[in-house]
Amino acid sequence: MFEIGLVVASLILLIFSLYILQAKYRSLRSQQKFLAQLCTQLEQQKIERQALDIGIVPQEFAPLYHTLDELLKALPASVGKDKLTGLVNRVGLKRALASMMPLTQGTLVLIDIYRFRYVNDLFGFVFGDILLKQFAERLNSLSLSPRLIARLNGDEFCLYYEQALTEEQLIHLRGRLQVPFSIKNTPVSVKLQIGCVHLHEHHADTSQMLRRVDLALKKARHSRSAIAYYAANDDIQQLRELRIIDSLPKGLQRNQVYMVYQAKQDIATGRCFQVEALMRWEHDELGVISPGEFIPLAEYAGMIDLVSQWALDQVLAQQAKWRAAGIQLCVAVNLSTRDLDSETLPQEIAARLAYYQLPPESLMIEITESTLMADLTKAVETLDKIRALGVRLAIDDFGTGHSSLAYLKHLPVNEVKIDKAFLKDLEQDKPSEYILEASINIAKKLGYEVTVEGIETLEIRDRLVAMGVDTLQGMYYAKPMRAAELEMNWAKLHHI
Ligand code: C2E
Ligand code: CA
Ligand code: CA
Repeated sequence: MFEIGLVVASLILLIFSLYILQAKYRSLRSQQKFLAQLCTQLEQQKIERQALDIGIVPQEFAPLYHTLDELLKALPASVGKDKLTGLVNRVGLKRALASMMPLTQGTLVLIDIYRFRYVNDLFGFVFGDILLKQFAERLNSLSLSPRLIARLNGDEFCLYYEQALTEEQLIHLRGRLQVPFSIKNTPVSVKLQIGCVHLHEHHADTSQMLRRVDLALKKARHSRSAIAYYAANDDIQQLRELRIIDSLPKGLQRNQVYMVYQAKQDIATGRCFQVEALMRWEHDELGVISPGEFIPLAEYAGMIDLVSQWALDQVLAQQAKWRAAGIQLCVAVNLSTRDLDSETLPQEIAARLAYYQLPPESLMIEITESTLMADLTKAVETLDKIRALGVRLAIDDFGTGHSSLAYLKHLPVNEVKIDKAFLKDLEQDKPSEYILEASINIAKKLGYEVTVEGIETLEIRDRLVAMGVDTLQGMYYAKPMRAAELEMNWAKLHHI
């Protein structure tokens, strides 16, 4: 009897121990999962933060990074794997690279599937996943075979080669990977953008290497090139860009940013009825920063709405002052195509016009052609609503995108502004003169007013007038001026 009791007690103890063990195992698993998530997050942050390490971010992050490296080493192999493709992920790649350190030669290649988002949007995620798997298989079967292959984010793949790849090899690699896929009997073409770092030129630890290859890919995206390379001064450029993004809200608040206005000349009367507002920024540390530099950064950082709201307010407040002083003109504001994503933009414009008691035709909005064509459907909806308010619309930098004038007919636009790039070769290059003249003629036949910008000499001005242009803008007629200077010149510009 006593023995049976002992057996039962032992059994109970065993079951209890098993239960505890299982609970411990479960908690260990969840801790491990949590740790893995934490690592991926920290790793991501570390890469972003390191861009700032060059000067801005305090060094208290350093011990955290060290702990992170230790954690990475201790994690089980499964954490470093990408479940979808079976390749290593960012954690796995980092760990593999770290185990090979110091790496003094070789090439790191970061590949991005251009606009992969559209594959998902058009065909669904299952389809997108199949494409990613097939892409991974293709990477695994490359004849120019890499030492490491990783999938870092959704559509970003990283290859490590022990040798220095030549440009020809990279072009060949890109060509091989771009051969159209066939998924569920549907042919799918992909376009790839590649960032590349040559390790023998730039010694670095693993995090720096990954950040640099990321920078190289960003360069390819910004310059719309197929392949871009990391260069030593990219770090400095990145730091400058981060400082610009960081200080933009303050710049707007503290009146470091202001508007200048460039008069346009109406050819029929020789007078000025319109000005274009152009932004200027006098940064307290970086000096004068051109809008050509900070506007794309504001777009990239998701801050363009802040900039555009500020621009609309400035311009309409100025307009109200001018109208009160008897200066009647239409002011053009440059907006970004990204602004057109906002469904509330037309109401916001209407509310501002009402607030400043301005007629809608006293405002013109200029949108750049090339970016507009990139995402037309959404943009047209918003443009229609803005046009319905009575606000005037212009297509800016016409000729730099891929649209045809006939296509523009579907846009609710009043004016086409031909890009100044057309003027560059005008003196020597006959074909460019014919193209310019033909574009002006077609635009006018389609009912648009035509402006040509960037006119610097009397000779060019006269030739454009002969071609039938309605309005001219450029240094020849008027430079961009502060509001007060424009007021002083108003009588002359308006021929009063
Ligand atoms: P854009 O809209 O094409 O503006 C015309 C640019 O040509 C301006 O450069 C202007 O100063 C310059 N320009 C004027 N006359 C001449 C000339 O005779 N010759 C030459 N070569 N250039 C001339 P800026 O002011 O540096 O602006 C650059 C670009 O930045 C603008 O190009 C526009 O796309 C953007 N931008 C400027 N202000 C704003 C703004 O308030 N919001 C937005 N979203 N973009 C802006
Ligand atoms: Ca413009
Ligand atoms: Ca322009």
